[in-house]
Amino acid sequence: MPADRHAARRQKLIRAIRRESADALLVTNFTNVSYLTGFSGDDSHLLIGPSATVLISDSRYTTQLQQECPGLDLHIRGPGKSMTDAAAKVVARAKLATVGFESGSLTYDQWHALAAQTKSADLKPLSGLVEKLRLVKDSHEIAEIRKAVYQAEHGFQAFRACLLGDMTERRAAHELEHSMRRFGAVGASFAPIVAVGSQSALPHARPTDREIGESSFVLVDWGATAVQGYKSDLTRIIVTGKISPKLARIYRVVLNAQRIGIDSIRPGLRCCDVDQAARKSIANAGYGKNFGHGLGHGIGLDIHEGPRLGPSSTETLKPGMVVTVEPGVYLPGWGGIRIEDDVLVTRDGCEVLTSTPKELQEAVLE
Ligand code: ZN
Ligand code: ZN
Repeated sequence: MPADRHAARRQKLIRAIRRESADALLVTNFTNVSYLTGFSGDDSHLLIGPSATVLISDSRYTTQLQQECPGLDLHIRGPGKSMTDAAAKVVARAKLATVGFESGSLTYDQWHALAAQTKSADLKPLSGLVEKLRLVKDSHEIAEIRKAVYQAEHGFQAFRACLLGDMTERRAAHELEHSMRRFGAVGASFAPIVAVGSQSALPHARPTDREIGESSFVLVDWGATAVQGYKSDLTRIIVTGKISPKLARIYRVVLNAQRIGIDSIRPGLRCCDVDQAARKSIANAGYGKNFGHGLGHGIGLDIHEGPRLGPSSTETLKPGMVVTVEPGVYLPGWGGIRIEDDVLVTRDGCEVLTSTPKELQEAVLE
């Protein structure tokens, strides 16, 4: 029952708002609004609290809102009124004393406008309340992430079979995205990275006109967005030429670190300890300085969300969290190797949701 699912999330949030001694929270982050209401559009805010919950939107969405969020009170802003004006009106009408706002999302200008129009209310910055709920996925969300994994992996398989040496990185990225859509994705979860040879030393390389066959390997980092907005995120190396001893050595280091990281994942462990397990193995192999980013991140409605698997992340893993594990070794001028999978924390350990082959021999393009 979709309505129940969102209502349950709102109930949890209302308890958190009470704990913060606020009368309501003005949710302005569109992704958070979708998470709490099931509304698939954007440009909407939600005022939520124990005494009133109102979805604030505009007339483009009236019909869609009635279909997607039956039973929710709506406030449709009039023409010429800004979203903040409309939110201020709803806040004033609800006669609330303390209203929390998402300080990571509301702009300074919006805050000013809101404060000027809600003089009787005390505005309290509250950040991360909804994001905290989003850390642990319910069964519906996990099923949606599995769809995004399916679309990414099948799209990749078909893309890989058609990859040609004279294709540019840009063209290849386009083909990959197209291929994921053929398997039901609404799009890529982020602009795919297709990085040939030395380009792959840039962890966030943008596709260029370099051709796939210009080096002996290419790094592909990609993911799909499934219909309800949930995302997947993977990285694989495709070997298009000969496996040099250096490639074999570095690949082994990264794959080994990734296995160690994944094997350590279980509820109760701190995120920094997962990062540390993988990081130590790369450092022991002599490449510690060449792994400059965190081990992974949560995925869900956003491609990067909590929890972060990084050296300073003290968050504890809980069943239902979904994280990427993506160690990398980057050698400027030569290239970078990264391997990334999506992992669900379960009650007694973890389940790797992605299954695209990753042994070096399997990375060779026939
Ligand atoms: Zn990625
Ligand atoms: Zn990632």
